[in-house]
Amino acid sequence: MRIILFSSQNHDRESFLAANPQHGFELHFQQAPLRLDTAALAMGFEVVCAFVNDDLSRPVLEQLAAGGTRLIALRSAGYNHVDLAAARALGLAVVRVPAYSPYAVAEHAVGLVLALCRHLHRAYNRTREGDFSLHGLTGFDLFGKTVGVIGTGQIGVVFARIMAGFGCRVLAYDPYPNPEVEAIGGQFVDLDRLLGESDIISLHCPLNDATRHLVNANSLQRMKRGSMLINSSRGALVDTPALIEALKSGQLGYLGLDVYEEEADIFFADRSDLPLQDDVLARLLTFPNVIITAHQAFLTNEALAAIAETTLNNIAAWRKGAPVNQVNG
Ligand code: NAD
Repeated sequence: MRIILFSSQNHDRESFLAANPQHGFELHFQQAPLRLDTAALAMGFEVVCAFVNDDLSRPVLEQLAAGGTRLIALRSAGYNHVDLAAARALGLAVVRVPAYSPYAVAEHAVGLVLALCRHLHRAYNRTREGDFSLHGLTGFDLFGKTVGVIGTGQIGVVFARIMAGFGCRVLAYDPYPNPEVEAIGGQFVDLDRLLGESDIISLHCPLNDATRHLVNANSLQRMKRGSMLINSSRGALVDTPALIEALKSGQLGYLGLDVYEEEADIFFADRSDLPLQDDVLARLLTFPNVIITAHQAFLTNEALAAIAETTLNNIAAWRKGAPVNQVNG
């Protein structure tokens, strides 16, 4: 069976080649992202393997189906970028990797918290320039602070557990409360109370119609002045221009982002020799109290191995007529 992997990088090649021997699939690694103008590369491939910023809108799916594709195997947990109704209508099955390593993403979110609260990004640059001064590097203890966790699924609960380990008070908001949060001493509250009482807020809910721009000018005003926001879930959970205004006024004290609403045409490529065309991202990058990573929270050896193994098992199960991890079944 021939499989084309769009948006594949060296780390995908390594992890998929390591997991493939037991399956013996013919893997074609394609660096290009999946777009309307690259969909023709999938002609004749029964399986298209796609990542988070690939375009899986109706016109692209139509072209894939016309070229003989029958299965979309996502290398991600999130599937907000797939037009599921179109896929169903075109007879395309869609499978995903519901869990790989919640630790990878949660630990990255914690890394952003620690870097921001102790200004590690600034200290790193300073000492490399021979500047050993301490001005502006005063941080704050995590112990005793209140941490608000929005979304307490697999990743959110790991994040909550780690922050409880620092001695933080954990507040959580989720329409489907996870009892594990209460087991570690956390408390479920309504969103308003979480926003108003938290020193640090971390987003771990999926992107859907109910959560799009969950953090906006209004919710930012309801947050504690000077608090920290971490988003390692999906860029469109926050209204980015509103973040800029809140940073300018000091209402938002710290911001850690691993995702950005307009990341699809920016992230995952070296653009350092080109002028940055996105003015919103460019402005965000000017703040000393902002750290942006380019959607790398998933990027650990353990997560990559699990993604490759589950994706290839998903494809094998679908080929046998007993699909697993299907999102449009
Ligand atoms: P999950 O499905 O286990 O948990 C999501 C939780 O969010 C669930 O408990 C759900 O009830 C809750 N939720 C749904 N709607 C909500 C709302 N309106 N308000 C608050 N909570 C709500 O998912 P997960 O595996 O923990 O992943 C969480 C998100 O992390 C994914 O949706 C994905 O977007 C993101 N993610 C990012 C990366 C990365 O590399 N940055 C990697 C993997 C996943």
